[in-house]
Amino acid sequence: MPPRVPRSSAAKLSYSYPQHLREAVADLPNGPGVYVFHGDSDHLPLYIGKSVHIRTRVLSHLRNPDEAKLLHQTRRISCIRTAGEIGALLLEAQMVKQQQPLFNHQLRRNRQLCTVRLDAQGRPEVAYAREVDFAHTPQLYGLFVSPRAAHDFLRAVADAHRLCYGHLGLEKLSTGRACFRAMLQQCAGVCAGRESAEAHEQRLFAALRALQLQCWPYEGAVGLIETHEEDGWPRLHQVHVVQNWCYLGSAPDEDSARDLSHTQRLAPAFDADGYKILCKPMLQGEVKLVRLGALGEG
Ligand SMILES: [Zn+2]
Repeated sequence: MPPRVPRSSAAKLSYSYPQHLREAVADLPNGPGVYVFHGDSDHLPLYIGKSVHIRTRVLSHLRNPDEAKLLHQTRRISCIRTAGEIGALLLEAQMVKQQQPLFNHQLRRNRQLCTVRLDAQGRPEVAYAREVDFAHTPQLYGLFVSPRAAHDFLRAVADAHRLCYGHLGLEKLSTGRACFRAMLQQCAGVCAGRESAEAHEQRLFAALRALQLQCWPYEGAVGLIETHEEDGWPRLHQVHVVQNWCYLGSAPDEDSARDLSHTQRLAPAFDADGYKILCKPMLQGEVKLVRLGALGEG
């Protein structure tokens, strides 16, 4: 994600890498990890990014005026090495959420995080992460940052598959009348009896199925193991502790990972970033896993 820059600062920009940062960049490792651009404040970073090649990536941050502005305000650059790409992705998401840097596009607040589920009549409804356990409830479809985003998605599905806004509960239907979109041939006409409710439901279901959320498939926490070797740097071995698609931190070995998972008194709540980062590699068996056991059992 390219950094976003407040438009107000109209500093004169040069397209050469700032002299005061050159040495710092040369000293960075070139393996995976998270890097941080610090401005005048010690507490609030300007930008947090991740890469599998930190030094190369940091050097490439001069491709557009916004990035040049970011570098112009940067006083120093720090980094945290990780033992692999997954560790970098998890740590970056966690740090961006906690520190909310000025120049990061997505602040990744999860306050209105919601999904779509079907009610007893097969109608879609919005369900919120603060009310429903997304990690263990089957038949939830998609992740949305707001109910409005969920409704926009449902409207797009309806448009693509000639579904009825009225039948989906997206607008009121006057009884016994076809909806406006049915007259325009944009709704296949379940509202006017031109197709059955089952046929309508099947098309909806087929469209939603690709977005179905995967339930957390383990009892308790698991550790994801990554190892990285780089010339001139100590070998790095990490166990990333994850439960309910939520990243709890990384440990240097299995025992400390188990301790880390057991310091939690409550099972962690679903996390959208963790889900997006982990779901595919974990379910496709692309990562090395170790079971850490259920919380409260230790
Ligand atoms: Zn209709």
